[in-house]
Amino acid sequence: MAGPGPSGLEVLLSTLQDASDSESTLNILNVLDELLSAGTDRRIHYMIKKGGSEALLRTLVNTGCSPSPSSTILVPLLHLLTKVGHRDKKIGHKAEKAGAVLLLLDLLRQSLSDVKMAVACLWLLRVYASCVSTAALLGKNGALEVQFMLIAPHTKKHTRMVKAAIDALAALLNSKWNCRRAVSQGYVSSLLNMYEDWHSNDAENKHIPIRRALLHCLRHLTNLPAGRRALEQDGGMEILFRTTQACLASRGLESLAKSATQIMRKCYPKQPLPLRSDRSTYSFPLPGCPTLNPESAPTSEDDNLEEESDEEDTEIDDLDREEDDDLETDLTKLRTRPEPDRPLEELGQYARLCPELHYDFQDLDSDPDGEESSDEDGFLYGDAGPGPRFFSGGRREDQRSPGSKPVSENQGDPGGEGSGPSQAGSSGGPEPQLNPRDFHSQYLSSGTAGHEIPSMIERLLEKHRGCIPSHDPRIYTSTAANTKSIAGYSVLAFPDFWGHLPPPYRQPMAQRRQGVQRSKVFEDIQRLLSPADVVDKVVFDLEAPSSQDTVEDSDSLRFYSKFESGNLRKAIQVRSYEYDMILNSDVNCSHYHHWFYFEVSGMKAGVPYRFNIINCEKANSQFNYGMQPVLYSVREALEGNPHWVRAGSDICYYKNHFSQSSLPGRGQKGRTYYTLTFSVTFQHSEDVCYLAYHYPYTYSALQMQLQCLQRTLDPLKVFFQQQTLCETLAGNPCPIITITAQPPSRSWNHLHQFRNRPCVLLTARVHPGESNASWVMKGTLEFLCSSHPVAESLRDAYIFKIIPMLNPDGVINGTHRCSLSGEDLNRQWMKPDLKLSPTIYHAKGFLYYLNSIGRTPLVFCDYHGHSRKKNVFLYGCSIKETFWQSGSTVNTVALKEDPGYRTLPKILDKIAPAFAFQSCSFLVEKSRASTARVVVWREMGVVRSYTMESTYCGCDQGLYKGLQIGTQELEEMGSKLCQGLLALKRNSLLYSKLIIPAPAPGELSDNRLDHKPNSI
Ligand SMILES: [Zn+2]
Repeated sequence: MAGPGPSGLEVLLSTLQDASDSESTLNILNVLDELLSAGTDRRIHYMIKKGGSEALLRTLVNTGCSPSPSSTILVPLLHLLTKVGHRDKKIGHKAEKAGAVLLLLDLLRQSLSDVKMAVACLWLLRVYASCVSTAALLGKNGALEVQFMLIAPHTKKHTRMVKAAIDALAALLNSKWNCRRAVSQGYVSSLLNMYEDWHSNDAENKHIPIRRALLHCLRHLTNLPAGRRALEQDGGMEILFRTTQACLASRGLESLAKSATQIMRKCYPKQPLPLRSDRSTYSFPLPGCPTLNPESAPTSEDDNLEEESDEEDTEIDDLDREEDDDLETDLTKLRTRPEPDRPLEELGQYARLCPELHYDFQDLDSDPDGEESSDEDGFLYGDAGPGPRFFSGGRREDQRSPGSKPVSENQGDPGGEGSGPSQAGSSGGPEPQLNPRDFHSQYLSSGTAGHEIPSMIERLLEKHRGCIPSHDPRIYTSTAANTKSIAGYSVLAFPDFWGHLPPPYRQPMAQRRQGVQRSKVFEDIQRLLSPADVVDKVVFDLEAPSSQDTVEDSDSLRFYSKFESGNLRKAIQVRSYEYDMILNSDVNCSHYHHWFYFEVSGMKAGVPYRFNIINCEKANSQFNYGMQPVLYSVREALEGNPHWVRAGSDICYYKNHFSQSSLPGRGQKGRTYYTLTFSVTFQHSEDVCYLAYHYPYTYSALQMQLQCLQRTLDPLKVFFQQQTLCETLAGNPCPIITITAQPPSRSWNHLHQFRNRPCVLLTARVHPGESNASWVMKGTLEFLCSSHPVAESLRDAYIFKIIPMLNPDGVINGTHRCSLSGEDLNRQWMKPDLKLSPTIYHAKGFLYYLNSIGRTPLVFCDYHGHSRKKNVFLYGCSIKETFWQSGSTVNTVALKEDPGYRTLPKILDKIAPAFAFQSCSFLVEKSRASTARVVVWREMGVVRSYTMESTYCGCDQGLYKGLQIGTQELEEMGSKLCQGLLALKRNSLLYSKLIIPAPAPGELSDNRLDHKPNSI
């Protein structure tokens, strides 16, 4: 013992071990106990440091080994050891070393009739067992059996000892060896019976701790598969379910209900999804990839899924650690531009996508009233005011300009794809009332039926005319006829055809009912307990369409999803008013179940129907935080309320008992699924309704919108050109739009200004499930083409290049994240494959081209949707912020970085109600190296390169705080982004100076934020 000599405590401890008579031992123990009782934990830790545990253990061995150990000394000694050992992480090992483990077990065996002594032993034993190896040592020497002897069914005597024994048993079960032994001894059944006994005899709830401790033991035992099996076989689910129901009725028993529910969820036997294969129903042969065998998909694909994170889906709060590891801190990777991924000669093909540079504007001189041919339709549709233009009642042929190819093609093919809705009601004859049910069955079965245009639908469309701005059901039908889908859709979803208007009210976040998740889980457990009550009837199956026939005349709901953007693979009726639904994987994939959009009919009004989507994959969801799915009622639409509205109650999202079958040889655990459950009470009986994850926006809707836009804009003011970037894998054209102001004349000055406007490139919907991005894009397009003075200034200031849908095939076929190649297109930007990712290949090629002619965009923004966050925000790229955030020691002072990337988000924070600057991030992550944002920033040198993320849920700040987001707010965001770009124009001097010395004094008025390193 070095230092200034032993402390008082050390002297006491050493005297304790040397004490020869029980009186002095007892005295020292009392002194020590008083010392520790008076002080804080620090005294105990000090004592442990000074060898207190060892000294007490030695005293225990000395006393315990004496021929007739005195409980007068042992009881206080055991108490003191328990107190100290509780804080000493190594108490088990120290006790083993001192030979005090089995000694304690012997003492316990000898004092079974001495309650005081037994309790003291049990407490210390519990402390020992906190070391797993000590617990195992005790177990191997019969400790489990000793405890078990002391645990009794309900009794009024010695409850303290019973409680101590159960607690000690629970601690012993920390060891797997003990668990296995306990299970094999049949303890699961005994503990269950004891739990039930205590439960039923403890009417006054005086023994909650004992009941809780019994559940604690069961929780340990059911960590083993054998334990779970035993619990199920011994009727444990039933016992726990019954007792928990009773617990829910009394206050103060929450902890029991919670613990029992956890056990039940764990023990619910895992089941594979009722599917033949996890692979998507749809597959698509890929060019140059003949070997892609569905069953030989790489295992790693599945392994990675848990880690799979969206550009927008990483929960930064939860993943701080990983986030930091993911930050790119290799300066060469951040700063060096790689060589172009293709020969420069290839870029010439993109010159055609800059029509503004080549257009000769002959028409500007010849006839001031002249129109470009593409705008003729606008005149056919009447006046050119800002209001909507719809079908005017004549025959369709009269409505179309000869140049409008898709439409005229459709004329010759009245019964072809996409013409379904036109035949609706064809059998109705003169009947004036259109029943949604009739409408539905008509257009479902109208593949070849109607050749005449039914007068009823004509009248309806006539009534409908003018109802929804920039929507035209007839144009929709004709564009949809040209849309190529894998399944060859022949039916249109009514909402897409008829159109959607935002409801005249805003919808708050849904309030979560207390205990809703537990009640849903209980309903699930009841299926297991009362299998006879489960209907288990397949009412819809994409792969077996005949399953629907059995439903026609029954009381079951009818489902349908074979239409553009539809996603529902299978629906199974579980109970009278409850359905399990399975979503389809992305094409050529076995996962990404997230997006849904389906039709439901045959309902009774006023009855809550429970829908469970049982193969969700993400670990959490905004459905737990106020978000509702969206619903569209055909009857309401026909009555003048064509709205997608947020609907559904009792919504929650939780892990369920389904799991992916782990394939033999893969050696991986089957992935577990999550259930999204919600209940819908329909307003009308026999209505036809649609339910979706979010407001749908199809590819055909985009095509229709572009046609409508072209009709409404003033061609004298707006230079608007729609071209095709390329064809997708399925052969659908991917549109690219140029919007800018027409030059006032052909004079050199005007044309020079016209052609030298800086360029802004906007893209959207690379992820098909993110339909919110399309609504934002719709707002952008409409605003840019409008007569709003800001829009006019914007067109004067910039040339907008817009690719509104980077993944048309995904959108059409109802996938959530991928294209037909089964790949996430927003991970392909680094080296896009011409054949597999043509839209990305050519979008990047176009950017290379702009770069090569010195017209690198001032701003690039890719619109996305975010499933786990609220508000709208931007992700940008900053080397400095990435280094700061990563805690890198690299000196960034000398590093020059244009702080301009912060300007646009700050402007938006001020002018866009849904936007939140505090949610923005400017970090460059390794895992995002191949996203549009990072590649355009790094390879093209675009400082203002962004991902714009729009919530699916709603806002928790600003004007829309507490509200769910609607299409109106999304569209508004699209127009606000444009307005933000005008404010950016004031800084246009910065344009083309990609790296300037920081700070930039002219950077708007609020550059105080520009250099705040970690304001996010
Ligand atoms: Zn996305």
